[in-house]
Amino acid sequence: MTGEERGPETGDHLGLGNWTPDTLAVPGEVRQVVAAPHPVLSRPGGEVDPTSDEVVRLAADLVATMRVSPGCVGLAAPQIGVGARVFAVDVTGHPKAVTVHGAFVLCNARVVEATRLRPGREGCMSVPDLTGDVKRASRLVVEGELPGTGRPVRLVTDGFEARALQHEIDHCAGLLFLDRVAGAHGIYQRKVYL
Ligand SMILES: [Zn+2]
Repeated sequence: MTGEERGPETGDHLGLGNWTPDTLAVPGEVRQVVAAPHPVLSRPGGEVDPTSDEVVRLAADLVATMRVSPGCVGLAAPQIGVGARVFAVDVTGHPKAVTVHGAFVLCNARVVEATRLRPGREGCMSVPDLTGDVKRASRLVVEGELPGTGRPVRLVTDGFEARALQHEIDHCAGLLFLDRVAGAHGIYQRKVYL
């Protein structure tokens, strides 16, 4: 690992701090994941009030659904049928991950810096039969708000976690990884879902 400016989140008051899904203090429900071409997946999600009860419940549901889904490293609100700019990510333990912020949910997230494009293979629970090669920034700065408190956060990450964040931010904008694949030669039939 390089990048001395990255550093741990300690001392970075715009990091996640002590936030964990437990701080939502509501039990999440496992929701059904919708598959393409469901129209909710291709509509840009709306901005949300991260402090509303509705968004807190949505955040808990995203985490609960992500946790029961094998191989799932991120899940966005449109994937459970809600057109909102909210998603959960957790790349903990993934062999390709370098920087790992654990399990978190962001509201109204936007990319503020994206550099060092790299190709990589992606899959998606809403596109169960295909994977694809997508170029994504391997160094990324994202800003958003935490559900519950609405506290603003700024995450600096790289590699696989950066890819997961860009994939989920795309979902919130009504885009699938298939929209980012450079031509049909970059799409593959999936043999096993993982
Ligand atoms: Zn996806």
